[in-house]
Amino acid sequence: MPAQFAVFGHPIAHSLSPRIHQAFARQFGIALEYRTIDAAPAEFVAAVRAFFAAGGVGANVTLPHKGAAFALADERSAAATRAGSANVLTRLPDGRLAAHNTDGDGLVRDLTERHRADLRGHDALMLGAGGAARGVAWSLLEAGVQTLTIVNRTPETADALADAIGEPARVHTRYWDDLATLGSYDLIINATSAGVLGGGLQLPPSLVGARALCYDLAYGNAAIGFLAWAKAAGARYAWDGLGMLVETAADAFALWHGRRPDTETVYQALRAAG
Ligand code: NDP
Repeated sequence: MPAQFAVFGHPIAHSLSPRIHQAFARQFGIALEYRTIDAAPAEFVAAVRAFFAAGGVGANVTLPHKGAAFALADERSAAATRAGSANVLTRLPDGRLAAHNTDGDGLVRDLTERHRADLRGHDALMLGAGGAARGVAWSLLEAGVQTLTIVNRTPETADALADAIGEPARVHTRYWDDLATLGSYDLIINATSAGVLGGGLQLPPSLVGARALCYDLAYGNAAIGFLAWAKAAGARYAWDGLGMLVETAADAFALWHGRRPDTETVYQALRAAG
């Protein structure tokens, strides 16, 4: 029987992860099974345990389970620990589970390698302070952004993230209601789930600096509103999170198979498929 992999989420039916992992596996002639497992929050832990007890090798985890995945693991990578969430679970040889968080590395690789952006010295604005924001905040700072301003609809969550980072000279929080008076930024990251939830965001064009790079972690239809706003406000670049998704998947694949796949061909195929 081929090695078993899965992505857990709720909902999960439209996940691109099975397609991405099968495409990576074909590059190496690896046979694997990769399926989607829809688990409601109350069922998540039991579903994960059942999957690994039945021989599962690794799992990706997405909304809304990343915090629960982190909590149930026996070992946690440094990136998962600082984020307090995990998007990858791996069965260790002794059967225990290790948690990883590849969101930050995936975003920075998409920005700096695929899109050739140099983040050093940028004043960055991050909208949102949920699980994905926690996954990427430290990585943006490590990639050299000069300052990171976190603005969240619920301000306490932004404050908690800034406190956890603990770099008051570089990391600031502001109120959502004050967005119109904050001035402009070089890098604007949309880490909210507003597009996915269908609500959209009302953002002032004044946030977009003259050479600004705007990036939505969401992709597909969920990113249309933010990217349209960015372009209308004069952003130099406006990109969605499809490349990040492929890069984070490649990190999971490398953890599980010990080999790093070529991501560009898979990214281009997904992009062409719309
Ligand atoms: P969470 O549920 O953990 O966090 C959601 C965030 O969005 C919170 O900060 C929440 O604010 C904010 N938010 C939701 N609705 C609104 C709104 N109408 N107006 C303003 N703020 C809003 O989700 P995640 O952090 O896990 O995911 C966020 C996004 O990132 C999703 O679109 C997801 O698809 C995407 N993502 C993409 C990845 C990729 O590989 N490309 C990887 C991971 C995530 P509040 O605290 O006030 O509720």
